[in-house]
Amino acid sequence: MPVQPNSIEARDKAYQLHSYTNARALERDGSLVIDRGEGVYVYDNNGRKYIEAMAGLWSVAVGFGENRLVEAAARQMAKLPYYHTFTARSHGPSIELAEKLIQMAPVPMSKAYFTNSGSEANDTAMKMVWYRSNALGKPEKKKIISRVKGYHGVTIASASLTGLPNNHRSFDLPLPGVFHTTCPHYRVYKAEGETEAAFAARCAKDLEDLILKEGPETVAAFIGEPVMGAGGVIVPPAGYWEAIQKVLKKYDVLFIADEVICGFGRTGRMFATETFSLEPDIITLSKQISSSYQPISALLINEKVYGPLADESAKIGTFGHGVTAAGHPVAAAVALENIAIIEERDLVGNVRALAPKFQSRLKALESHPLAVEARGIGLIGALELKPRDGFAAGQLGPKLLAIMMEKGLISRAIGDSLALCPPMIIDEAQVDTVFDIFEASLEAFQ
Ligand code: PLP
Repeated sequence: MPVQPNSIEARDKAYQLHSYTNARALERDGSLVIDRGEGVYVYDNNGRKYIEAMAGLWSVAVGFGENRLVEAAARQMAKLPYYHTFTARSHGPSIELAEKLIQMAPVPMSKAYFTNSGSEANDTAMKMVWYRSNALGKPEKKKIISRVKGYHGVTIASASLTGLPNNHRSFDLPLPGVFHTTCPHYRVYKAEGETEAAFAARCAKDLEDLILKEGPETVAAFIGEPVMGAGGVIVPPAGYWEAIQKVLKKYDVLFIADEVICGFGRTGRMFATETFSLEPDIITLSKQISSSYQPISALLINEKVYGPLADESAKIGTFGHGVTAAGHPVAAAVALENIAIIEERDLVGNVRALAPKFQSRLKALESHPLAVEARGIGLIGALELKPRDGFAAGQLGPKLLAIMMEKGLISRAIGDSLALCPPMIIDEAQVDTVFDIFEASLEAFQ
């Protein structure tokens, strides 16, 4: 549809720089302006309806238009629209949310600490790890290991942890002291003739080799998403996490589980830490914590992290970290209500109930002549397209996405993979609709 002068689309092009765009292409082509949402659907500025099969950015667990969250925000706005948790100040919603998260934590955790985004949570995790090493009198123990294709955010530290070239190129990143080990994507990174079990063991061996090369006394922490999201929805092979954690324990390396996507039910358990039997020292959370109705993120830290941190703060006088809006009362109130909805409606049970259908319909697409691999767990997945003559790598995904959008389905192109991560309130008929449109789009792309 041509863009009318002074339309909202034209004003978007004129005034707003978007994240993750080719800015010149956006000046030319414009963007899709979403106007409102209801359940698993969003409507654009021209009234067209889409099934939002990415839950926004992997985040709107309870769906769009959830009035309980609106009311929770309004109640808190009226009562106390802002307060902070710096120094010896606090407020009810942050206290209640911290208590709730510690009670929900899948492994024993000592404290919750609030930030505003996943990036800030991971940035803070890195700073806490450094602070702790200094507290323990091990100033040389500062290196952090992440993974190729891991996604941990975009601040200078969290973008360094991210293992994707687009987050480093032209930004002069990653920072020194951050290393990326093997990505656990079996199909892509396996050696000739290597079984899945052997590949999982080799990933752990690669990590061990890197720790030994750098010197275990210099490696402080490892960060990983239980299931990689923005790197293309990569579910590690069986045995991977067990083998990785063995290495981390052997060399006294802390484990940060980035549950920014997985947390609050996505993999079929409340936390992927449970799904994969993880024992993290730090868990970072965001997105589904509030269904992203309000920006909020959290770190859960265990005693190994909290103890030295608390001691150091006593020694030097302060834990000199914190952002103005962290644990914002309105965001915390919305998060509490959102978690209540997830629990009351048993949305994690809904994920488990629908996962077999969701995953089997996704798997069925793998045999399509245009596809090369289907990947997923719970209510998250991706279909990767086969390289095709006449298309450079990364061109097929956006082309198929454009066809899907024409047919009323919002997915996300990650290179040539199309990701799905629908709101956890989705029902069986809507899952079928998602895959019916996906299939029809593949047919139309022949
Ligand atoms: N960690 C993971 C696993 C993510 O998927 C994301 C965002 O997609 C982040 C961290 C960064 O979160 P934010 O965009 O809120 O900074």
